[in-house]
Amino acid sequence: FHAEHDALTGVPNRRAVRDVLRKELARCRREKNTLGVILGDVDHFKKINDHYGHAAGDAVLVSVVQRITSVLRSYDALGRYGGEEFLIIAPNCDLAMAQKLAERVRTAIADEPMDLGNASARVTLSLGVTLGTAESDPEFLVAQADTAMYNAKRNGRNRLEVGLDLPLDEPIEIGRR
Ligand code: GH3
Ligand code: MG
Ligand code: MG
Repeated sequence: FHAEHDALTGVPNRRAVRDVLRKELARCRREKNTLGVILGDVDHFKKINDHYGHAAGDAVLVSVVQRITSVLRSYDALGRYGGEEFLIIAPNCDLAMAQKLAERVRTAIADEPMDLGNASARVTLSLGVTLGTAESDPEFLVAQADTAMYNAKRNGRNRLEVGLDLPLDEPIEIGRR
């Protein structure tokens, strides 16, 4: 269990959620579907640790996972991708559905302060959203979601941004003309 799950939050770890992404992309190829990939990063988490202490920071991460889980569909997957970064894989989604899901996640975190025992903290997430297709490379997809997430940070945090690149063969097609 511990090889595949994060000890603090209980959700799949980075390696396990990457495996899920690879398997779901294979399913996309078979079933000709697309999937949403959402990377969420807690805003100013270092400040939460500095202000409330590391144990409170840990409690925030557990609450973040609970709140994200509460808005996911049964067949969506959530993993802890890094310290305060979470990856959501949403099969059978087009881009509009993936954006709606990311917005549900954002509000689930931001709308109610988190109870930290003797204090409460307002916590927000910045989210990057992208769409996986039959042709997608899993590493590239996560990198795209990461770039979009950084744009959400740059544009003020507590928001989502979409990252969608042109297909890689596009410049080659143009070059042939
Ligand atoms: P930004 O809004 O730009 O994302 O700022 P940030 O402070 O969230 O980002 P930064 O990368 O500077 O800090 C992340 C912090 O997360 C630093 C690290 O100590 C903390 N962290 C990572 N893993 C854990 C954990 O398991 N528990 C706790 N309490 N803190 C953690
Ligand atoms: Mg981070
Ligand atoms: Mg952060």
